[in-house]
Amino acid sequence: MKTPRLPLALQLAVMRCLRDKLAQANLKLGRTYPEPKMVYRQRGTSAGTAWLDAYEIRLNPVLMMENQQAFIDEVVPHELAHLLVWKHFGRVAPHGKEWKWMMEEVLGVPARRTHQFQLESVRRNTFPYRCTCQQHQLTVRRHNRVVRGEATYRCVKCGEPLVAE
Ligand SMILES: [Zn+2]
Ligand SMILES: [Zn+2]
Repeated sequence: MKTPRLPLALQLAVMRCLRDKLAQANLKLGRTYPEPKMVYRQRGTSAGTAWLDAYEIRLNPVLMMENQQAFIDEVVPHELAHLLVWKHFGRVAPHGKEWKWMMEEVLGVPARRTHQFQLESVRRNTFPYRCTCQQHQLTVRRHNRVVRGEATYRCVKCGEPLVAE
């Protein structure tokens, strides 16, 4: 998959969304949480991922080109909420009540767990899995071993078993 060149206007719109939502959250929470690093190198079928320790949001450039408004309206707030929940509450369930509260009460965005995008252009050499600390991409071979019950994979950081998203 060739990574598309992202138009500067789109990157600026995404950054504006991030800064607006962060400012809104800091105001409501009475904090000064810093701006996360934004990188455009998420691969596979995930729209984006939040990397807690790195305090970084990775967005999928292929899906972002094809779903520009949805990225601004949903994906950026979704991943930002993961980082803010981690800052505010520590390690909790990825889409638990703290995350829903952060989305709906603080950021003012409907709390949907997943995004409905056409995925033809990014299908499919990995499958998204999750532990309690981050998202993982498993190869087709590993994914099939999990599905057949032949293997369980664990996160090397938190030690938790990976579950399919
Ligand atoms: Zn999520
Ligand atoms: Zn982990």
